This record gives sequence, C-alpha cells and structure tokens, in this order.
Amino acid sequence: MYATLMYGPGDVRYEQVADPKIEKPTDAIIKLSATCICGSDLWPYRGLSPQEGPAHMGHEYCGVVVEVGSEVKTVQPGQFVVGSFCLSDNTCPHCRFGFPSACRQGEFMTGAQAPYARVPLADGTLVATAELPDADMIPHMLAASDVLGTGWYAAYAAQVREGGTAVVVGDGAVGLMGVLAAAQLGAERIIAMSRHADRQKLAREFGATDIVAERGADGVARVMELTDGVGAESVLECVGMGESMEQAMGVCRPGGTIGYVGVPHGVSFDGQRLFFKQQRMLGGPAPVRRFLPDLMDRVLKRAIQPGKVFDLVLPIAQVAEGYKAMDERRAIKTLLKLD
Ligand SMILES: [Zn+2]
Repeated sequence: MYATLMYGPGDVRYEQVADPKIEKPTDAIIKLSATCICGSDLWPYRGLSPQEGPAHMGHEYCGVVVEVGSEVKTVQPGQFVVGSFCLSDNTCPHCRFGFPSACRQGEFMTGAQAPYARVPLADGTLVATAELPDADMIPHMLAASDVLGTGWYAAYAAQVREGGTAVVVGDGAVGLMGVLAAAQLGAERIIAMSRHADRQKLAREFGATDIVAERGADGVARVMELTDGVGAESVLECVGMGESMEQAMGVCRPGGTIGYVGVPHGVSFDGQRLFFKQQRMLGGPAPVRRFLPDLMDRVLKRAIQPGKVFDLVLPIAQVAEGYKAMDERRAIKTLLKLD
C-alpha cells in the first residue's frame, strides 16, 4: 500500500510501503474510513522537534477492523472503531485511575495517514460502535480520536462547570474543540481568544459567547475587563508557547484552574509567581480513551459536530499539500479522504 512518510522538515511524501500486519497477538489491523493531519504533526514539519526520518505519520483514526491478533477479545473484524492517539491496555493502575495516556504499556499511535494501519493494544485502545455509522458521521468520529478528545480534556482539566466562566487560549483546532467542550460541560460564559475572522466564526458556532482578539498583556486586560476584574475560574491553554501560558496565567482567577494541552515549547515557570497566583494546573497528553465512549455517543446522537473543524478535505495522495496548507495557516485542519 501507499502511506505518508516524513523525510525531514517540509518533506512529506506519499509512497509505497509494506502492508501493515499483525505483529503481536494484541494487535488489530484497521481499514481507515478517513484520517487527518494534527497540529502536532507540524512540530517536526517545521523542524521544531527533531525526528529520525523517514517516519510513518498519522495518529488520528477511525475505521473498520479487518484482522485481529489471537489475544484480542473486545473487537472483531467488521466492526467500526475509534481509538485514541495514545495506545493503552486500559488495565494498568494509571489506566484504571483514568489516565490511559500514562499507561505502563503505552505508546503513541503512528502510521495512520494511510489506507490501513496496525493498532497495538487493540482491546484497551479501540472503542467499537454497535452498527456501522452513516458516512456523514465519519469526520465527527475521526475528530473524537484526538482533536476533540484533547479539547475535551482541556475543559475537564480546567474544571469547567455548569454556569461557570471559561477562557480558551488558542484558536487552532484543539482550542475550537475546547470551546465546544466547555459549552457541552455547561459553561455559561466562554471567552475565546482569537485573531482570525474564520476561526472566530467557528468559535461562536461551537458556543463562544465573547471573542477577544487582543493578545499578550492587552488580551489579558480585555478578559479582566469582561469579567469585572476577576478573571475566569477555568482556563484552557491550547497552544503550548510561553506567550499563551502567560496569557492563561494572567486571566485565571485565584483558586481557578488551568487545563493545558498544548505541548510546551519554551515554557518555564517562576515558582514564586505560581505560589502567589494560587492557581491549579493539570495538563499533558489527553487521556482520550477515557472520554471516547461518551464522545462517540454524543456524536451518534448528533448532539455535537466536531468534524466542522476540518476546513480542508483532500484525497490522501495529496497529503503533502495538506501539511503545507496547515503550515501556511490556509487551513485549520486537513481531513484526508480514502476511497
Ligand atoms: Zn494502562
């Protein structure tokens, strides 16, 4: 088959590779219904995280099981499944505590920007639906695999509550999903920090009540003004840069909580500042597997449409253009079609 390989910064190719096969008895092979490009795929694409090339790309996936290893019990060929970008056994102490993203056997999914993929730890990672979903459900189901699950975790980690106030820092795909999650979790006021008109529009659609276009100190001042000088009790940090973390800490009220899901690049903290700010923080790779059954259920009930975050759809053979469009910010998130 053909698959997506990254040879180095800016160099993505769709080329012939060996078909994936069952390597361990706990593996499953799936035929992907659709796949996509993640904001985190841009770190190596921009040369900001070193990577040994050529590397198989893709960790967001949904599709139909075609083969399972001898020890796989919970999924079978013919079933439609969604899995997390973090592979997990769902049985170790960390998984049982709700953090499959810290699974003792865990690793990150890879190789999903392809027509077929091998999913290790299939029993603990994949969630099957009762029936094959309609075709129009596929983008929404695919979003649950990472981008929605990560935005959801940001809202959970920020302790978004019914009637509360939430600020979302970052208007990338994850930030937009954070807005959707905060709305679903009942936040009454959702302030989205966004400078781009198209993203502001989508943020409103997903439930933002206020938009703050200013950044840095001006952005903080604007949020404080909107909250009568108090700040928000829930802040979702969805970027991972020093400036965005500064903004998050600047708008979080004492006793409030920051959920941070952007992989930190060049972020550091001053201990005393953290001490006197009296803010709670929880972040890291999202334990998507914990949220998947609920998220898939919300999608199937048509309560949410997270797939609206895909604003560019390309055949997978044009994957290189998909990366380019996201890198140049011509697209928020690219869905790759498989026929
Ligand atoms: Zn585990």
